[in-house]
Amino acid sequence: MTETDQSDTVSDRYLKREVLGEGTYGVVYKAIDTKTGQTVAIKKIRLGKQKEGVNFTALREIKLLKELKDPNIIELTDAFPHEGNLHLVFEFMETDLEAVIRDRNIFLSPADIKSYFQMTLKGLAFCHRKWVLHRDMKPNNLLIGPNGQLKLADFGLARLFGSPDRRFTHQVFARWYRAPELLFGAKQYASGVDVWAAACIFAELLLRRPFLPGTSDIDQLGKIFAAFGTPTPSQWPDMVYLPDYVEYQYVPAPPLRSLFPMASGDALDLLSKMFTYDPKARISVQRALEHWYFSSAPLPTDPVKLPRPAPKSRAPDFDPQDGPTVLSPTRKSRRIMAGPERFEGNSNQEEKIDEHAGEVRQAVGDIAGKNEQVPMSVDFSIFGTKPQSTPTINSADSCHLKRELDREFQHDE
Ligand code: AMP
Repeated sequence: MTETDQSDTVSDRYLKREVLGEGTYGVVYKAIDTKTGQTVAIKKIRLGKQKEGVNFTALREIKLLKELKDPNIIELTDAFPHEGNLHLVFEFMETDLEAVIRDRNIFLSPADIKSYFQMTLKGLAFCHRKWVLHRDMKPNNLLIGPNGQLKLADFGLARLFGSPDRRFTHQVFARWYRAPELLFGAKQYASGVDVWAAACIFAELLLRRPFLPGTSDIDQLGKIFAAFGTPTPSQWPDMVYLPDYVEYQYVPAPPLRSLFPMASGDALDLLSKMFTYDPKARISVQRALEHWYFSSAPLPTDPVKLPRPAPKSRAPDFDPQDGPTVLSPTRKSRRIMAGPERFEGNSNQEEKIDEHAGEVRQAVGDIAGKNEQVPMSVDFSIFGTKPQSTPTINSADSCHLKRELDREFQHDE
């Protein structure tokens, strides 16, 4: 990519439209990419307010999404810092699985449920193959595109896993989707936590309401035990060694069929394998995808034919009379931000952005290298140095970011 190309990609590229939603770490806007004419979603994440000056959520999301290119995972197409915020640009998605489940006008056939759930597991299987735990699986993080494709989104809580001694925080997932080992305070856990959450999503698709809506962590365990019976040490030998383990009064499991009266025998069999107490005995996502539930009739609905909520009536996307709200840095601010002093300790907001921009540049670098069609709009000229043609996270001048990320990934809490 040439210098000219780089400056072309930043100016006046995105026209900001309405707010789409608000996540834990920032507002998400709809926007038009004037370069491609496509609608995109831009997540605005505040930079520079963290204790150590780096917003790990954003960097983590960029770093992991760079590695996760799959039809069932949201695509990060661009990232740039602007006015104290980092902007992550994603492909635009029309709705999410929560909206589908809640919409009383939608009838979900067994084949539709199978299709939505299969796409969920395919995206998750890809994460696990790349040693990434999502850790925030829930219906409103499963976005649905115009062609019915379901994609995993919101990787702000995601982490690499696989090292035997790695310790994590157990405060992950929305409570209703939290596996019993997390509720008992496990700090060493693996892909089974995502399997449990996926099983809760499957149950929610079948029931059309949250399956285990606990009101506190204790109540959550109570609801799990009421559904599947209190686990015994013979069922789950490691349970008694978990940090927050407490003995619960024994209750027997009701028949699974009584909880899901409309589900097929195949669906119940898969559910029981995913809702296995002992994470070591719980089915993997890959094995779940190979379960006969997916190959038996009715086969999963073609995604384009899946029922989705009626689109809300909105103002037209792109009126050329509208004054554009430019999200990328203007030429003027690029000039102000440039300069050799940018890495010297300075609390000035713009210089802070510039400092983070260096990290962002490194974190997103690979996408810029691989995606010629939709080039990254991070303006490398504002950082004073010309980037390598295909920068990687391991390159010499990315030591700072690498150190920060390594520290973060090693010491999760
Ligand atoms: P998040 O911070 O990723 O949880 O996003 C917050 C909300 O913004 C979501 O619940 C969605 O309503 C919306 N949103 C996020 N990403 C997209 C996207 N790619 N397309 C459309 N809406 C999105």
